Amino acid sequence: MPEAQKLLERIAGWPEEVIAYQRRLVAMPALGPDNGGQGEWKKAEMVRAWLAELGLEITRVDAPDERVPGGLRPNLLAVLPGGRGPRVWVLSHLDVVPEGDLALWASDPWQLRVEGDLIYGRGVQDNHGGLVASLLAVRALRELGLRPPGPAGLIAVSDEETGSAYGLDYLLRRRPELFSPRDLIVVPDAGEPDGTFIEVAEKSILWLRVEVSGQQVHGSTPHKGVNALYAAARMMVAARELAAGFGQQDPLFDPMVSTCEPTRKEAGVENINTVPGRDVFYLDCRILPGIDLDQALGVFRERFGAIAAQEGATVSIEPVQRLQAPPATSPQAPVVQALMKAVARVHGLPARPGGIGAGTVAAFFRQRGLPVAVWSTCEHSVHQPDEFARVSSILKDAQVMALLYAGLY
Ligand SMILES: [Zn+2]
Repeated sequence: MPEAQKLLERIAGWPEEVIAYQRRLVAMPALGPDNGGQGEWKKAEMVRAWLAELGLEITRVDAPDERVPGGLRPNLLAVLPGGRGPRVWVLSHLDVVPEGDLALWASDPWQLRVEGDLIYGRGVQDNHGGLVASLLAVRALRELGLRPPGPAGLIAVSDEETGSAYGLDYLLRRRPELFSPRDLIVVPDAGEPDGTFIEVAEKSILWLRVEVSGQQVHGSTPHKGVNALYAAARMMVAARELAAGFGQQDPLFDPMVSTCEPTRKEAGVENINTVPGRDVFYLDCRILPGIDLDQALGVFRERFGAIAAQEGATVSIEPVQRLQAPPATSPQAPVVQALMKAVARVHGLPARPGGIGAGTVAAFFRQRGLPVAVWSTCEHSVHQPDEFARVSSILKDAQVMALLYAGLY
């Protein structure tokens, strides 16, 4: 039997292994201190033991953080040695988000619930799915005695959910020499339920707080005041139109244009018969990479300023969050091409590289010129109550990763 077939069959026989790993992972909440937790240490120790059992070479790049017991946020790298070919890294994260409103869960979020192919619990998808899949992939190579063409690496980082300052960002600052642009880096932390979407680009994120000041008057005499809400409404309408003009359409993204949506709004006047003299609203803008956020901000300031002047109001615009997207990974990059072949082989479906409007941890790689593909078979249950994953999907992801590690795609 060809080696690729042996790998695929070995992994296909492991649904109970997925459940066993997941059961132990779910039972060990790893919340960062920003989420009111004690960090990832205990969970990392358990994972480290699994990696050691597989005989992998382990490197630790733990980040000091006085807020957690023990004072360290763990970051683990484990490698199955291989030939002189490019390294393959699969990076997952150890931390999870809090359970949220317990009443919305059908069962204990910190205890795995199994219903046929479905498993429920906090973290089963985000990011145990990726972690377990990469573990099984390396284990399959190991058990079959396959020497990969390049080192086969698995990374488990902390602090992905709260900014990565103690996770991937720290790792890349501290040990940049561990990575090379030749590496095939996969981050299994986003994707579609059919496993065919490969994220190669992200939009920039710009959140704005817009405060409009006018003059409050009685509702019967609007001409004597300046209606801040009316001016704000004009700005909201203008915001959408402005956003669509930021940059050329980019077919990697859906939608292909920048977007800017009015989202949050602070309470204004409480009664109906008062013209509000002050209004505060927020915009969530997702802007195509390549557009400078200062330039975008300048466009908003100019247009909103003009609207305010027409209405006799004033406006102030403050960024609440601004993340300039790094340059995209080329859809032609070797990691994307390799993934497309491996996904087609395992899923029997063509994979599609594309962009998303959100930011992922992959940005830290891309900022350093390291090509990275964000890919996994991902249910839309992430960060939700009753987070769930499919055992069969995790096995398929393990198969894709095994082909990548083994260079058999
Ligand atoms: Zn995640």
